Amino acid sequence: MKPVIGITPNFTHETGLFSLHRDYTAAIESAGGTPVLLFPSAEPETGPDALPDFLDGILLSGGGDIDPLLFGEEPLRQNGEISPLRDSFELTLCRAALESGLPLFGICRGMQVMNIAAGGTIYQDIPAQTGSTLKHSQQAPRPHGTHSVLPLENSLLAALWGKKRVAVNSFHHQAVAQLGEGFSVAAHSPDGIIEAVERENAPFVLGVQWHPEAMDAKEQGLLFSAFVRAAGGQNQRRFI
Ligand code: MN
Repeated sequence: MKPVIGITPNFTHETGLFSLHRDYTAAIESAGGTPVLLFPSAEPETGPDALPDFLDGILLSGGGDIDPLLFGEEPLRQNGEISPLRDSFELTLCRAALESGLPLFGICRGMQVMNIAAGGTIYQDIPAQTGSTLKHSQQAPRPHGTHSVLPLENSLLAALWGKKRVAVNSFHHQAVAQLGEGFSVAAHSPDGIIEAVERENAPFVLGVQWHPEAMDAKEQGLLFSAFVRAAGGQNQRRFI
């Protein structure tokens, strides 16, 4: 039986359409998992019922911005389009997954959702709220790594990669600010922006700010295979 990975799609209120780039499902399939879509319910279940019982892991995909009221802030004018339906569904799902120890992989917005679900905050806009001058909204082909990330020693990410510096793609204007409870930094970019987070004492909980599903580099495939392996019921740290 292949591990079943639930993926959250994007939702556009104006058109009523769900969307998900094929790169996500292709990356899960290449790593040996079976991807399924998780559609947001208008009234998400809470507690243990929030997690469908057929899931072995959850991938929170990228997308638009998160409603700042959900992390206790008023919106800056640089905050982009938000989806209340997606926000409430993903936060509920994520809290249940963190509580139950289900393997979680958050990509771009997904990493920010994980952090907010655990009580953390994000910068609504990197240029407006930080001193960073690094280009995080790249103008280059999607698979191309345009800036470096530096994994922290002793992080799961460093163990998976065995490298001190990897070039990643970058399509974000927001970033993790205050870490959520139980999360630690797994990698920074050279400007000090948090580019990856992970959670101690969890089978596999990783958030990355870049889009590994859109990159061909083998380092990125390693993230998906570690995730799917953990979803298969194996303790990730035993494999390092
Ligand atoms: Mn970046």
